[in-house]
Amino acid sequence: MACHRPPWRTALSNALAASRIVSMHVMVLGAGVTGVTTAWYLRERGFDVSVVDRQPGPALETSFANGGQISISHPEPWSSPAAPWIALRALGRRDAPLRLKPGLDPARWRWLAGFLLECLPQRHHRNAEAIARLAVHSGACLRTLRDRTGLHYEEQTRGILHLFFERSEYEKARAKIAFLARHGIAARLCDAHECVTLEPALRNSHPPLVGGIHALGDESGNAMQFTRELARRCAQAGVQFHFETTVEKVAPDARGIVRVVARTADGNAVPLQADAWVVCLGSHGPALLEGAGEHLAIYPVKGYSVTAPVVDPARAPNVSLTDESRRIVCSRLGDTLRVAGTAEICGFDTSVHADRCRALLDWAESMFPGALDTAGATPWAGLRPCTPSNVPYIGRSRWEGLWLNTGHGSLGWTLACGSAHCLAEMMSGRAPPVAGFPFRGAQPT
Ligand SMILES: Cc1cc2nc3c(=O)[nH]c(=O)nc-3n(C[C@H](O)[C@H](O)[C@H](O)COP(=O)(O)OP(=O)(O)OC[C@H]3O[C@@H](n4cnc5c(N)ncnc54)[C@H](O)[C@@H]3O)c2cc1C
Repeated sequence: MACHRPPWRTALSNALAASRIVSMHVMVLGAGVTGVTTAWYLRERGFDVSVVDRQPGPALETSFANGGQISISHPEPWSSPAAPWIALRALGRRDAPLRLKPGLDPARWRWLAGFLLECLPQRHHRNAEAIARLAVHSGACLRTLRDRTGLHYEEQTRGILHLFFERSEYEKARAKIAFLARHGIAARLCDAHECVTLEPALRNSHPPLVGGIHALGDESGNAMQFTRELARRCAQAGVQFHFETTVEKVAPDARGIVRVVARTADGNAVPLQADAWVVCLGSHGPALLEGAGEHLAIYPVKGYSVTAPVVDPARAPNVSLTDESRRIVCSRLGDTLRVAGTAEICGFDTSVHADRCRALLDWAESMFPGALDTAGATPWAGLRPCTPSNVPYIGRSRWEGLWLNTGHGSLGWTLACGSAHCLAEMMSGRAPPVAGFPFRGAQPT
């Protein structure tokens, strides 16, 4: 992911950027949680900002109904030494958390080859370290933003409880806690009894719980509500939003100046005007940047959520939970419970399959019997913009004026504020305030 440009060029363009901020117009492509937070931090630094999205409003694609977790304590990417065995065990099982659709799509196989490479122990460790550093910064940025703006988004600040139902996994928990502690992430080991004391709704859970890790600084909240509320604040602060505007082409002209063409709601193709661009297009960025010779290894990894009304609050959890054995998460959002999980590698398909949703609801019913109106649950599927390493692209592209903040995979909500803050610092000519993260084209801190 390294960006090969001479250091003097980076220094010069940073200095130029710093001197032009006040009049510089940045256009953010994409109004998911990543694009809107990017717009916020750029506007805060004095840039003139506009945002373009093909949908009629913010957060209508992957940021719409995710698991809700601000999971600083889960920086480990899916590409781990255990992942190939988990994938093999999942083959053919209808209730498997992982599903790979057979087919010849070369992009899928290229991405899977990259994923396998990132499963090597050293790479996995390096990626987890990088994500942990960014996640810690992101948590701090989110708290500051919330304090400054008074934003509410059904947030819960009770931590995340990681649950283990298999003793072999619970026994590895101490090593995980030590890893988190090295990054200043507070977490403590809990036996089954302590888990139930922390979250009484677990008292009737089936199968019986072995234990858990309570990550005290983690949070949860409604990413869609957050994004919409923040977009409203952005608009009040002068950010221009252009919805129902589809980006069709991003390519440099003969002089190397990036040109962006979009199609507006009335069907007209229009050239967009800006001094700089930030790509926050989720899984759709790679196809658009291919024309600019920028190859982003981002693949859509499909996931599901169901959001069920809570009918008995005493039986429904308030603490956000991660079932480490079955790879399912849940978050209390107001008077509903959001349950999310599964990973399907099947291309750009967002159709909702009833059996996948049923598996999530069955999990919720077995964990919290009588708590939810499962018949009234709202199903959803979205595409995580995943890099093989789950480390996002943040920083410069190979073209002057074209920046990247994309590919946040399974942690886009967790990493949104920190990624956007770091990118805005870079675009302001400063070093990003997170050491040890592979920002593209950053000066060493
Ligand atoms: C089931 C599930 C559960 C998850 N749970 C969690 C969780 O608990 N915690 C967590 O941190 N993360 C979670 N995630 C991941 C997180 O939701 C994503 O990483 C995040 O939403 C990605 O945000 P984004 O802004 O990059 O992408 P998006 O939200 O997809 O935004 C991209 C935007 O670009 C726009 N766009 C695309 N193409 C074009 C175009 N050609 N022209 C104009 N606009 C375009 C889209 O309309 C969209 O608004 C989960 C994801 C899923 C699917």
